[in-house]
Amino acid sequence: MVPPTRDCDILILGAGGAGLFAALHAHKAAPHLSITVAVKGLLGKCGCTRMVQGGYNVALAKEDSVERHFMDTIEGGKWLPDQELAWQLVTLAVERIHELENELGCFFDRNPDGTVHQKAFAGQTFDRTVHKGDLTGIEIINRLAEQVWARRIERLEEHRAVELVKTPGGDAIAGVLFIDMRTGEYLFVRAKTVLLATGGGPTMYRYHTPSGDKTCDGLAMALRAGLALRDMEMVQFHPTGLLAGTHTRMTGTVLEEGLRGAGGFLLGGNKERFMPAYDPKAERATRDLVSRAMFTEMRKGNTTPHGGLYISMSHLGPQRVRREFKGMVERCADCGFDLAGGLVEVVPTAHYMMGGVEFAGDCTTALRGLFTAGEDSGGVHGANRLGGNGVANSTVFGAVAGDHMAAFVRHEKLRQPDTRAIEAAIARCERPFGAPRGDMEALRERLYDTMWQRVGILRDARGLTQALHELAALGAELERTGIQDTTRPFNLTWHDWLNLQSLIDVSRVIAQAALARQESRGAHYREDFPNTGALDASAYTSIRADGAVTMKPVAFTRVRPGQSLLKHAA
Ligand SMILES: Cc1cc2nc3c(=O)[nH]c(=O)nc-3n(C[C@H](O)[C@H](O)[C@H](O)COP(=O)(O)OP(=O)(O)OC[C@H]3O[C@@H](n4cnc5c(N)ncnc54)[C@H](O)[C@@H]3O)c2cc1C
Repeated sequence: MVPPTRDCDILILGAGGAGLFAALHAHKAAPHLSITVAVKGLLGKCGCTRMVQGGYNVALAKEDSVERHFMDTIEGGKWLPDQELAWQLVTLAVERIHELENELGCFFDRNPDGTVHQKAFAGQTFDRTVHKGDLTGIEIINRLAEQVWARRIERLEEHRAVELVKTPGGDAIAGVLFIDMRTGEYLFVRAKTVLLATGGGPTMYRYHTPSGDKTCDGLAMALRAGLALRDMEMVQFHPTGLLAGTHTRMTGTVLEEGLRGAGGFLLGGNKERFMPAYDPKAERATRDLVSRAMFTEMRKGNTTPHGGLYISMSHLGPQRVRREFKGMVERCADCGFDLAGGLVEVVPTAHYMMGGVEFAGDCTTALRGLFTAGEDSGGVHGANRLGGNGVANSTVFGAVAGDHMAAFVRHEKLRQPDTRAIEAAIARCERPFGAPRGDMEALRERLYDTMWQRVGILRDARGLTQALHELAALGAELERTGIQDTTRPFNLTWHDWLNLQSLIDVSRVIAQAALARQESRGAHYREDFPNTGALDASAYTSIRADGAVTMKPVAFTRVRPGQSLLKHAA
């Protein structure tokens, strides 16, 4: 049975920076096209672009340059980024920030002389992060949403994409199957072209920062559609997630990096500093180093009552801390902690996936008609993402996708879908209604444990192999696990079941890719292979749903390891 169907020219999955920029650019390029933005949450209220605190990296200042931003991105990514994509990122970020300010109405913080204020972010050789206080994402997403609302762009809110459906011959995408979460009914949307911009999101780890609507659905759909994902072993952990117990969703949320930057100390359960023993830069070392040191201390048992560590700011003077970190002080107070004068429990928290769908500079993928942008895509950041390059990535490539999709549909017709694939996808989604009720919460806890302990900050072959067995068992168990509540509208247990399915599928490719990379690089640390291999022979992982990993050489199209694009360094 094929569910109700509607048609459009351009279908965009996701309403973050990537999805909304794509919609606006496609509409600008071809206002007569029918464009639909479909999103799991409410437009303007979901996803991680809204959560961006720190800001947006862009080379604006006279003393800065796109070459310098590029070199920071390549060196930060440990020579794994696709250099052409990274070049597009740094050059087009300049255009996008002007568009955000001058066409879309964002107000960013300014210097007394009227120039845009740019602050320091770790891992960069220049202060280039544009921001609006520490609520940059709200400014960006509110303005983007207003502009989308003001145009003839269709919205399907609280519509969850569940399958990318191809033509019967499998040569192109025909459309996307959705569940309308408000009614629980299925809907098939045919489109000449589809953008995958559901924003990844490593929420399979016990502690994580992304919004709850992000459960790797896009990546799981891409795998089922036969696409290859790259760099999936590269999961970035932020060192200071708030640890406030299991009773609150605040656990895992980020306490900003500026706390360590300003001179904050990390303490063990014994209330003593440990970072100086790990790195000369101590608490100011990079995210990956600090997260590893913290995890090592936690493994030794040097932990706080909730099993984490402490951050201490009081030696800087409580008044100064209250003044400079007002938002953070309030966030901690909400959970009963005194950041200015006392100790706050923290834990490293899964923040960002550098990996994603392999794609080209025009945002096309290997499946005709399917484009991708933002955190669902892989290759821009390599082994590590610079803070501030995430929102730049989603806005830059969202705009590229919008421009190219508008041009692409000019010569395209709507395609007929493979109806058997639609039926199979519906049968998959219906499975929990037909199975005996089980304990999904226990399954989620096991997933959290497996990913946190064995596929997290420190990895080795034994742990990863064990994790793969555990994930296979979890996947099989989920298939046999049913849900009690069979009503359809807003059945959140059903959606949790689907969330878990996506997370388990994507966890498996993270573990496979991590097992295949027998070295330590950037965010990926193997205790059994602690050294980084030869940079000249850098290769990225490419994996499909069958779990087979291919190592593909990185093309050094602009600069080779040991070289620089900066004139003074050449
Ligand atoms: C707390 C936090 C702070 C951050 N701070 C910064 C920062 O300071 N600077 C920076 O550069 N980056 C930062 N990032 C990263 C940044 O937010 C992301 O890189 C970027 O916003 C991702 O944009 P996106 O459009 O790809 O995805 P998102 O903005 O996450 O949007 C994804 C969209 O897809 C939708 N979706 C998901 N699944 C489905 C589905 N099945 N069907 C339909 N829709 C779906 C979601 O509802 C959402 O609308 C931060 C991230 C977090 C979590």
